[in-house]
Amino acid sequence: MTESQAADHHQDQTFVNGSILTMDGPVPSYAEAVTICGGKIVFVGAAADARERFPRAELRDLEGAAMLPGFIDAHSHLSFAFELAGQVNVGAPPVGPCQDIPSIIATLESFRSARNVPEGDWIIGYGYDQETLTERRHITKDDLDAQFPHHRVMLVHVSSHGAVLNSAALAWAGIDATTPTPDGGIISRVPGSQEPAGLLMETAYIHLVANRMPRPAEAQRLQLLDGAQQMYASNGYTHAQDGFASVADLEFYQTAAEAGLLYLDVAALGSFLEAGQWVGNPRYPLNGYSSRGESGGFKIAGMKILHDGSPQGRTAYMREPYLQGGPDGQSPWRGESTVPFEQLAAVVRQGIDAGVQVFTHANGDAAIDDVIRALDLTGVTSVDDRRTVVIHSQFQRPEHLGDYVRLGISPSYFTNHSYFWGDVHIANVGYERASFISPLKSALKHGLTVSNHTDFPVTGLNPFFVLWSAMSRTTRSGVILGAEERIDAYAALGAMTTGAAYQMFEERRKGRIAEGLLADFVIVSADPLHVDRDKITELTVLETIKEGVTVFKAPGGSKN
Ligand SMILES: [Zn+2]
Repeated sequence: MTESQAADHHQDQTFVNGSILTMDGPVPSYAEAVTICGGKIVFVGAAADARERFPRAELRDLEGAAMLPGFIDAHSHLSFAFELAGQVNVGAPPVGPCQDIPSIIATLESFRSARNVPEGDWIIGYGYDQETLTERRHITKDDLDAQFPHHRVMLVHVSSHGAVLNSAALAWAGIDATTPTPDGGIISRVPGSQEPAGLLMETAYIHLVANRMPRPAEAQRLQLLDGAQQMYASNGYTHAQDGFASVADLEFYQTAAEAGLLYLDVAALGSFLEAGQWVGNPRYPLNGYSSRGESGGFKIAGMKILHDGSPQGRTAYMREPYLQGGPDGQSPWRGESTVPFEQLAAVVRQGIDAGVQVFTHANGDAAIDDVIRALDLTGVTSVDDRRTVVIHSQFQRPEHLGDYVRLGISPSYFTNHSYFWGDVHIANVGYERASFISPLKSALKHGLTVSNHTDFPVTGLNPFFVLWSAMSRTTRSGVILGAEERIDAYAALGAMTTGAAYQMFEERRKGRIAEGLLADFVIVSADPLHVDRDKITELTVLETIKEGVTVFKAPGGSKN
């Protein structure tokens, strides 16, 4: 952000000449003009009326682009953006730019030169996946050494369970021909020798490298804050979530907000593991955003409870066994809950009693059964309006929807899964069960308010991919995963704006373009309601505006 952009804040502005989709109401409605003042929307209506009432407002010509409320990140992990902001994406399309080894080298090289990374420092790539490379093999230290003899280079595998290191990085880790392979690990060796080839997996990676990597100190993290927020702002988000924050994370965000460094709304979910330290402690207040900045701020939105793992990892807690057994060959295997039911019930009660909004991660139907039972034990129902959120709710059963309505539970779904792991789910639980994954259509029919999320860094932040996956439910191999659960673009956008705002108890503050709400907008290359479903992912964010302040502008985008 620059000074001149921040100065916009105090000047009334009227936006005209675009598709201004307000997201205000059950069916799409458009405004001819929107006027903002002091970070808030002060007028929505006809252009002639805006001119008459606000004659001195600066005119912002949208030049036919679409303007929507800023996207609200219903669930992701902002803290990962700190690490990734200092790294480079070497994933394959559609999430990254690399299809072969030369393109990985080129991507690392342009990162090195753009950031001026000095020799001896780290260059770390994320999203590396050898399965997607045309060479169909792992990159080696020799491939990397040729271009990077003096930098420490590491490509972290997309699974986060391994990495390829170049010679300088292996030397830092102290891994050479004499290093024994640890139990449960893999050190790939140059054929015919004991010399490491570059790839390390599982315990060899986790113990010898990952756990020993230097963690950025607070000062460094504060410096990375702009890059981390830009990952969200450049994707049109004006609200970002830290979906599992330690007490140290909460304090970091408080410091950042005090220093005026948060220009997006950052909402953190405090960890249930440390609930005793922050719940009810006046040092961690729950009453809205704190900020010294011109836009944005920080709030503790609620408590995050983990109750199971992931369905693609076969660690989601299911009622019925996985068709392929467990990740270590266990059979029968239906996953496990993260904590015993009694502990879940106790921590849910602790949150409810303290007036803290409860967000529980639950993917499998058995985990969802537990959450429903735990909430039932507190006596809270929809009448109490506690908006308990079940994050993911992926392998929900149809009968769970009635319980959600009765108990006032709001699901935050994850339709990107239908693309990235839909084929895996079919193999794991069969087509019929897999095709009810993230059932947005059924939930909306039940009258539930829903959101849809990326769980970044699990999937990328691209909001148009989320939109497309909710509308198409198509797997990587092209199977439609539950055609009856597809929703239209307006409903899919609702899950990223109004629905997400509701889940944050912020529907009177953001999520729609309406008078009195925050001037939080995303300007998009074209109106998502008037683009073919299969062209939705070609949409781009031209500009992101938070409380009237331009916080992202695409190079060569909107000409204002
Ligand atoms: Zn998550």
